[in-house]
Amino acid sequence: MPERDHDPIPPGTCYLVGAGPGDPGLLTLRAKEVLERADVVLYDYLCNAEILGHAPASAERIYVGKKAADHAVPQDELNALLVKLSGEGKTVVRLKGGDPFVFGRGGEEAGELRAAGVPFEVVPGISSTVAGPAYAGIPVTHRDHCSQLTIFTGHEDPTKAESSLDYKKLAAADGTKVMLMGVGQLARVTAELLAEGADPETPVALVRWATTGRQQTLVSDLANVARRVEESGFGSPAVTVIGGVVGLREELSWFERRPLFGRRVIVTRTRSQAGQLSVRLRELGAEVDEMPTIRIAPPDDELEFGRFVQDAHTYDWLLFTSPNGVDAFFEMFYKIYKDARSIGGVKIAAVGPGTAKKIKGYHLAVDLLPDEYVAEGLLEKLLETESVENETVLWVRPKEARDVLGKGLTEAGAIVDQAIAYQTVPETGDPTGAVARFREEGADVITFASSSAVEHFLDRGLELPERLKIASIGPVTSGALRSAGLEVDIEAERHDIPGLAAAIEQYYAELRAGV
Ligand code: SAH
Repeated sequence: MPERDHDPIPPGTCYLVGAGPGDPGLLTLRAKEVLERADVVLYDYLCNAEILGHAPASAERIYVGKKAADHAVPQDELNALLVKLSGEGKTVVRLKGGDPFVFGRGGEEAGELRAAGVPFEVVPGISSTVAGPAYAGIPVTHRDHCSQLTIFTGHEDPTKAESSLDYKKLAAADGTKVMLMGVGQLARVTAELLAEGADPETPVALVRWATTGRQQTLVSDLANVARRVEESGFGSPAVTVIGGVVGLREELSWFERRPLFGRRVIVTRTRSQAGQLSVRLRELGAEVDEMPTIRIAPPDDELEFGRFVQDAHTYDWLLFTSPNGVDAFFEMFYKIYKDARSIGGVKIAAVGPGTAKKIKGYHLAVDLLPDEYVAEGLLEKLLETESVENETVLWVRPKEARDVLGKGLTEAGAIVDQAIAYQTVPETGDPTGAVARFREEGADVITFASSSAVEHFLDRGLELPERLKIASIGPVTSGALRSAGLEVDIEAERHDIPGLAAAIEQYYAELRAGV
């Protein structure tokens, strides 16, 4: 088994990782760590697209099922694939909804890996067994209600002739029962429990798409639940909770009471802001889908960039003004050199902590960090630290950048070279599947945080559904929307990300109040 914090990472390890129940915030830190270094990710139907986003863009992503009957990859083929990929020396992440060892066949996969001599690690996840009820305001245990919790599957191995579930014991068991899968079997399961003497008035709740913005909860009792589910068309995936604790929901429901609960919001993603907006909107209860409008691409002249990187050791200073620039630099650097010492004695400056963290990730120290994390701050710090006159400086920058540093340093007598490491270009693909979902399911709100986001979004030529409300961060962005003939329904009063989220919240609060 690999140990944590040891370098280098043992090759060919297979990680059996729990992705949690759906909310991307319910991923463990360990899961994020191993995803970040994955070469291949094999994922399930219940794994959130955003969680996959923790894997490097270069990592291979393989969808392996399963949506009930439609098993994308049969289990034995999947096991063989895990063994094969790990055997090629790759870091393989097998990402499974919830916890890998709770009705996830993770035990079988681990067994196959052990038999094949493949090193593996299990990263437990938050199981929908407990998280689903929790998000519906149902604690699976409670001192006043029960001291026993039984977890069972409603969907047994269809190849087995007889049920291995002992309904007699199940019906007699005290406390809470949680059933995974088997929404389609509910009539049979409840009938068996009632036949074995279970109280027909026992409260039952089903929580569907738990912990996501699409969560739905249905509450009934043992005698009626199957009929209610049938009538309402309530489908899987759902967790079924049976027991007195269901009654606590009335008091403890919290997630479904949030102001944007049940609203689907598209965040058009520009640079780093999207993450912050999505987190805030999710906290308000919305279902959020991020639609990227830009992506990072290699510079127009890669050869020139390569030459600058090759000569980096000849400069006095190396300046980094973005984490992307650091990645682009070191990717190129290690294509050219095999030894970190080839960087020489050049001093390294970073514009802010995010960039500095990236540099440290390549095991290099940062010599200078400004007090204010903008180009002006970096310039000021460089100028005050020592004389830059006649110093040679290599600035690793994106194609699109203000020339504050170049100009300021040159004026102070430095000899500045600018290495264009990458550029941002409009995203025309659908890397997260958000565009396809938007086409199929529409949305309640779409957010725009810049006029370039408006421009790139319009370039996609997507049709806007009738009910869609348009939210803008401020007058400039609104202007861009209006000149494209669109109506702005929501405009932030404070022109920043929290302001935009607040405006959407207020819009729906007023709608509810009938203002
Ligand atoms: N290993 C998973 C369970 C896999 S079995 C875990 O620990 O959660 C698949 C079943 O899990 C589904 O049929 C459903 O019963 C349940 N499930 C998983 N995610 C769910 C979600 N977000 N909402 C409701 N049920 C979910």
